[in-house]
Amino acid sequence: MKLLKDKVKSEGLVLAKGVLKVDSFLNHQMDPFLMREIGREFKSRFADERITKVLTIESSGIAPGIMTALELEVPLIFARKQKSLTLTEDIFVEKVYSFTKRETNEITVSKKFIAPGERVLIIDDFLANGEAAFGLARIVEQAGASVAGIGIVIEKSFQPGRGLLLEAGYRLESLVRIASLDDGQVAFVEETP
Ligand code: 5GP
Repeated sequence: MKLLKDKVKSEGLVLAKGVLKVDSFLNHQMDPFLMREIGREFKSRFADERITKVLTIESSGIAPGIMTALELEVPLIFARKQKSLTLTEDIFVEKVYSFTKRETNEITVSKKFIAPGERVLIIDDFLANGEAAFGLARIVEQAGASVAGIGIVIEKSFQPGRGLLLEAGYRLESLVRIASLDDGQVAFVEETP
């Protein structure tokens, strides 16, 4: 997606340890026009998947998630992150290790929002090791629903998440793929058009 690639080129900052900071348009300040285009792009990629709900994780997945849900005309659910829980009867719970925060969170979704048989599209801002995407997929599967696909705004292709998700059989669509963040530079995966 050229618009997004241009934004990453002009505004992305490479932090140490393979982290890309994009807080001027995605992770802090958000660009609504870019988010609208992201929603349209995911809609066109997943149009044939008969999606009934979009699922993301708070907080940075919510903007691309809601714009995608708007285009697909289905609800958006965002999983909440909590430290630890006592009452777990009415919620699905999964553990997710956060790559950027280096801590494990429990992510939760109320059981009333995903019904058996639903076709759920998972959306997230970044893909690194795949922890967040797998945690969300396990929640969908706990509900007896199916993962219709996984849509990622920025994929760091040099980390294992992509390979693991494809190996597990999920359909993965990433709008921008980064080959490396070495020497403070963003290098993109060259894709044949
Ligand atoms: P994963 O769960 O795939 O290991 O990592 C994805 C999650 O970690 C995303 O939800 C995102 O919030 C965060 N993340 C991973 N890598 C980056 C990065 O380079 N930059 C930013 N801003 N967030 C990242």
